[in-house]
Amino acid sequence: MTAPAAANLFGDPDDRPAPPVPTRTATRFADIVFDRPLDHAYTYAVPDHLAAVGPGKRVEVPFGRGSKPTPGFCVRVTDQPPARDEVKAVTRVLDDDALVDDHVMKLTRWMADYYLCGWGQVLHAVVPAGVRENAGTRQAVFVEPVGTDRLPNPLPTVSPRQKAALEYAKEEGRPLELGRLARLAKCGPGVVAGLVKKGLLRKFSERVESQNPPVATGGLSEEVATAHSPAIELNPDQVRVWDEFRGALAGGGYHPFLLHGVTGSGKTEIYLRAIEEVVRQGKEAIVLVPEISLTPQTIERFRGRCGNLAVLHSHLTDAERGAYWRRVAAGHIQVVVGARSAVFAPTRKLGLIVIDEEHENSFKQESTPRYHARDVAVMRARLEGIPIVMGSATPSLESWANAGKGAYTLLTLPKRVEDRPLPPVRVIDLRHEPRPAGKHSAIGPTLEAAMKAALRDKGQVILLLNRRGFSTHVHCPACGHVAQCQNCDLAVTFHRARAALVCHYCGWETAPFQQCPACQQAIRYQGLGTEKLEVEIGEKFPGHVCRRMDSDTMSKPGSHQRVLDAFRDGLVHILVGTQMIAKGLDFPNVTLVGVVNADVGLHLPDFRSAERTFQLLAQVAGRAGRGDKGGQVLVQTFTPDHPCITLAAKHDYAEFAARELVHRKEYRYPPYERLARLIVRSEKAEAAAAFADQLAGAFQEAIKRVTADAERRDATGTRPPPVRLLGPAECPVYRLNNFYRFHFQIQSEQSAVLHEVLRTVLAVVRPPSGVEFQVDVDAYSMM
Ligand code: ADP
Ligand code: ZN
Repeated sequence: MTAPAAANLFGDPDDRPAPPVPTRTATRFADIVFDRPLDHAYTYAVPDHLAAVGPGKRVEVPFGRGSKPTPGFCVRVTDQPPARDEVKAVTRVLDDDALVDDHVMKLTRWMADYYLCGWGQVLHAVVPAGVRENAGTRQAVFVEPVGTDRLPNPLPTVSPRQKAALEYAKEEGRPLELGRLARLAKCGPGVVAGLVKKGLLRKFSERVESQNPPVATGGLSEEVATAHSPAIELNPDQVRVWDEFRGALAGGGYHPFLLHGVTGSGKTEIYLRAIEEVVRQGKEAIVLVPEISLTPQTIERFRGRCGNLAVLHSHLTDAERGAYWRRVAAGHIQVVVGARSAVFAPTRKLGLIVIDEEHENSFKQESTPRYHARDVAVMRARLEGIPIVMGSATPSLESWANAGKGAYTLLTLPKRVEDRPLPPVRVIDLRHEPRPAGKHSAIGPTLEAAMKAALRDKGQVILLLNRRGFSTHVHCPACGHVAQCQNCDLAVTFHRARAALVCHYCGWETAPFQQCPACQQAIRYQGLGTEKLEVEIGEKFPGHVCRRMDSDTMSKPGSHQRVLDAFRDGLVHILVGTQMIAKGLDFPNVTLVGVVNADVGLHLPDFRSAERTFQLLAQVAGRAGRGDKGGQVLVQTFTPDHPCITLAAKHDYAEFAARELVHRKEYRYPPYERLARLIVRSEKAEAAAAFADQLAGAFQEAIKRVTADAERRDATGTRPPPVRLLGPAECPVYRLNNFYRFHFQIQSEQSAVLHEVLRTVLAVVRPPSGVEFQVDVDAYSMM
């Protein structure tokens, strides 16, 4: 054992990190950031032979006390020496080309500041793994004939085989892979290597794609592009919107637009024209859509009109993602369509960003960096000096308020195209619905009759129930025991197809049981999920085909599309599902949309629950009556007077927004105040509680100090906006995944003050071992 240990200890001299050098002996320095929650960059000397070090490239450097070889991103190169006597030196450069350009560099810097995480963490998250690891590429060795002016003198003699190989290489007229040349000349690689040695062929290596780019890239020719383009004549509302937008495109510069248009009002047509215009100018466009909207139907609309398209969705392999990234960076792609992370696409001349369904929560990333793609996109548009359009039928109240203040220009499409009416919505009060004796059913008599009528007239039906599983409430009527997750403070849901009780938060499963573990009485399986609803439909509508779409049935890539295709072809009559079916679908034959229980999600402890319910109802209602047959919407609810239900029934977004904003202002919630949520968690409840108290105390102190400093600085004596702290308290889901969780919020009208407080505290507090905390700026999840 001694020998290997000694070898490890002393190693190969080249592997040993170089010791620090005196700062004055170096002339160039690089600032490096790491994939860690560190708030500053580290300066290293750049040795002369590593002149390739540059911003946006990754390097390997000795890091920490043990000088462990560690990859990091170079963010700056300078000849200004750091104020230190010694610096360590960069060991290796890992990329040939910069992975991020100047604008995205600035964008990630802003993200690190705003979302309070390490710059290196942001860069790490922004550059896909497939790019970092060069997935889908390989190092290839090429040869080409040496130019006549560089030929050795005297010319060396060559063997007949070498002569033949040389002829092939000359005929080719461009570099050939060494192995390929050998195959063409029917010789061994040694023959070619001999030519290199004799100075007749030049050898070099280069990284190449190991396979052709994935099919979906679809490089469409100009012809196809025009052939697909339908000659749609804009209606007067679209003309008004397009004129204003075109002005911004022609004028250039940063210009944010909020496009509020009811479902089916022709928003996408506006995006398409804008993209065509941008592509005509020789620039590129990024289109962000929720992951769920990345359907072939959506993609086709873009593909037919706008040059080369890259589609970035979550089912891509690392290699595919890497290939797209490189194609975008090389300027081969004009339009990038994708979910959240497409906002970082390495375009070269970005001319426009489009965000469809800008209100969607899926634009918020729920892990570090906890960014909101819409807000990052607005910042990117500002840094690049380009227009950005955010579209929705139900804009987020944040964007709506920004439009109200004039920060965004509001454009509206108040009517559906071709004067198609918005469907009438009927609210059904479940408290007064007659219940056919004995049997509890999810579909009340009114909804059932409407479904029968719609199906009889050869229409199709969409039923929304935003809760998956079979029974959502598994309990003992005798002692009140509720079946709970072993790791979380949450009731489990019975899934019949899987024959399991499942926790929807952490995925824990257990076999269903029939006897109460506490009192041995019979367990009751109650509460309604999509799985049970599907069974009820089967009983009530025999002879009609029903398909369910929720994350249980749609986990495989392509399953989503198969169901939608069957629905479009009329092979499926009733489509039932969770919010998955509420968005974006355009099926003209849908004459009835039913909402089985509008109250799911309305009473959650979250200030956005009314907004989300309104959005969901408005979106699902938008699926009805898109064709010539017209259509209607039926909403079953126990709270028929709740404004988010009555106003969704009237398709009155503006009124809903106005009322909800009054409420938000009164309770000082976003968009009137900025909010950061802090979550403390530990497997030990007391440890979490103690640190939450300590952290909250540190915030109280910081709030006092920052406020006092601001007052002192301000000569006019105006007070800075107050910073409030709410909590700490147990999280609504107190125990999650075996962690006990506490949270609190800090809020202020002004982001600057809020961030100053956050930075002050985060710079000094460290949680004890076994305790973690997270900061979520502009938090969306309140659970
Ligand atoms: P939105 O994005 O607002 O839901 P779309 O742009 O998808 O609306 O338009 C809905 C449908 O109407 C699409 O099939 C689209 O091709 C069509 N459409 C859009 N604009 C017009 C128009 N001016 N005249 C006729 N049809 C139109
Ligand atoms: Zn759980």
